[in-house]
Amino acid sequence: MSFKEINQKLPDVTYSKFFTAKNHAKLVGPGLPITPSITRHKMDPIKLDNFLDFITSEHIVRDLPYGERKVRMSNGSVIEMPNVVHSMGASDVIHQYKLFCAENEISPLGDSTMYRIIAQCGAKVRTSLEGIDYFVAEGSRAFSTLSNILEELVQIEVLNLQQSKDATSLLLQCRQYLKTDFKARIVHLSECCEVKDHCLIYALSDPLRPEFSKRCQHNHTYVCVPCEQLKESTSSLLKTVQCAVQENAERTEKLNDLNFKGTQAIQSITNLKNHLVRCKNQDSAKSVLFDTMSEDDVLLICDWSMKYLPKRYREDQTDWFGKRGLPWHITMAFQKVNGMVESLGFVHIFDSQISQDSLTTAAIILDVIDSILKFKDSAKFHLWSDNAGCYKSTEMMSILSKNKKVLSYDFCESQNGKGPCDRTGATLKSAIRRYINQGNDVLNASSMKKGIETMMKSVKYTVSVVEFTSKKEHVKGIPAIGSYSNFSFEEGGIRVWKAHGIGEGLLIKNDQIPAINIRYITVLEEPDDITFHQLPKRNTKSDTENVVIQCTNDGCTEEFSTERELLNHQFVGKCQIEIEFNSGLNSDITKKKYYEKLSESSFLRGVLNLSAETKQMEGSENSLTLGWALKTERKSKRFNKNQKDYLTEKFDKGLKMGRKEDPFNVSESMLHVKNSDGTRRFTYDEILSVQQASNKLLFSNV
Ligand SMILES: [Zn+2]
Ligand SMILES: [Zn+2]
Ligand SMILES: [Zn+2]
Ligand SMILES: [Zn+2]
Repeated sequence: MSFKEINQKLPDVTYSKFFTAKNHAKLVGPGLPITPSITRHKMDPIKLDNFLDFITSEHIVRDLPYGERKVRMSNGSVIEMPNVVHSMGASDVIHQYKLFCAENEISPLGDSTMYRIIAQCGAKVRTSLEGIDYFVAEGSRAFSTLSNILEELVQIEVLNLQQSKDATSLLLQCRQYLKTDFKARIVHLSECCEVKDHCLIYALSDPLRPEFSKRCQHNHTYVCVPCEQLKESTSSLLKTVQCAVQENAERTEKLNDLNFKGTQAIQSITNLKNHLVRCKNQDSAKSVLFDTMSEDDVLLICDWSMKYLPKRYREDQTDWFGKRGLPWHITMAFQKVNGMVESLGFVHIFDSQISQDSLTTAAIILDVIDSILKFKDSAKFHLWSDNAGCYKSTEMMSILSKNKKVLSYDFCESQNGKGPCDRTGATLKSAIRRYINQGNDVLNASSMKKGIETMMKSVKYTVSVVEFTSKKEHVKGIPAIGSYSNFSFEEGGIRVWKAHGIGEGLLIKNDQIPAINIRYITVLEEPDDITFHQLPKRNTKSDTENVVIQCTNDGCTEEFSTERELLNHQFVGKCQIEIEFNSGLNSDITKKKYYEKLSESSFLRGVLNLSAETKQMEGSENSLTLGWALKTERKSKRFNKNQKDYLTEKFDKGLKMGRKEDPFNVSESMLHVKNSDGTRRFTYDEILSVQQASNKLLFSNV
């Protein structure tokens, strides 16, 4: 191209510029077309950080994400995001965030920016594995495992496409039923229920221990159609696989794998169903307590938060390595004054690594009790926590039984039971994050305390920096303590129940309870003096625009206008669950009628190898036995070296990648991982469940 041509198109280019450019091109080659500059919207990085933190926290997300997807950001970088399942609309999330901001006196991003972020990242993203209810997570994953098995059965021509489709849609219905209606259909203890699947008394009575059982004053003559469908569709799927194993000698390995996966998945679904029954019953323990609470009664909900990783204001990614988390414990105290719920949160932060054992935990609880007694000396305490060994232990019960101010200890079955602690933990973590974003380093317990106290303006917490040296003594444990879920402290000893309200309970007499030396916590930095504050009552305004926060419990239709109202609702624990399941067969019918229906034209029977004889189905395999939902006492097997090595490899890989390995993937991968000689590394018996894998993967060394 000559100078003349150039000059016609670009009059600004002078002769000398043209030749300079030509010479330059000779030296380094022709230039590249200028890339159009990317329009970038300026976002306040701190506000962005707060918002992302919020939408990935326990405030919004309660389930594990499935898989990952890549999201391209406007600056061209690609980040991996857990896959998104929308259940809450973007506007609800944003409204909820604004309320959160208002309550915590922080300023949010602009609306359009927040909508754009949600559109890109999705609202249901969760990066941490804290507070996951494994029964629920494994149960819902089990349903996808079963649909995968159906697909594979089509591929190897055991089922045709239509059969597989029908069975899949049936499974989806069952999954939906378990997620929503099932819990609503379980009948409270005080009422009479003629369906074995829904009768709490039948489900939770120990057939061998009269003190832990109750007799139904009715017969169980009805069946629930969705419950029967669930049992039959899963068991006939398994039967289909097992028959195929015998008929397809050349595919034995593949089919054995399917059989293994199917058996595991069905076990997870059964575990989920039993768990939901126990949840419903334990939740009612909390409602009963709440309804009958006097002004002296104080409820304490306790939880160890996941260790807090120290963070600098300006920090390289590499700083993450080798950092040790700070252990911290949250206790939420509730009382009822003039019918209004009031709460007070206690935070105990340890500056050094401690063992989070029952002696340490008991010392924290005693510290909370003493703090409350200082300004309310008539207080009587009721405790509530999850089943972790540091809470449910002989040491804890012995120490509390000596403290005459504690009346009862109930253990919650579900993760939701300690919801107030989870939410407080999430709120405090995001407060600390904002504190760091203001230019502070949070590297120790003291600065963590300062961060919380500086940032939490409308609701104050009692934050102490503490120290404790645990000295494990050898004691003779209370037998079978793990199987009890309710403890009541009486004059003569501790009365225990397997399930709340079922039976007279068993009295463990004082002379059967080993004595433990009570040791107290050392407070290094005292908390401010703070007392209970009121939780706002449910907003009854008819103005529906204010009602945006939905209860996070599955199927609950209650809505609130502030975070604290939701907290109040979840504390009281009375979720409104609407029956949504609308199959043509949703009412309870007699067994006889049900089997008639089945033998007439069973959809199930057409699809899968259902036994042709109704009699056989009435037999033992699908019918529930007394006490079917009680926890089975699991003997904790020690991991062998191969299992331990594998988990350590995965854990180290997680450290290197800067993110922990997903325990679901690790559990699944154990089926296929091979030795160097091509043989399988693990037998079916050695494959660990998600829960077994997760403890090691998430917590070791950190
Ligand atoms: Zn009845
Ligand atoms: Zn019954
Ligand atoms: Zn049912
Ligand atoms: Zn609810």
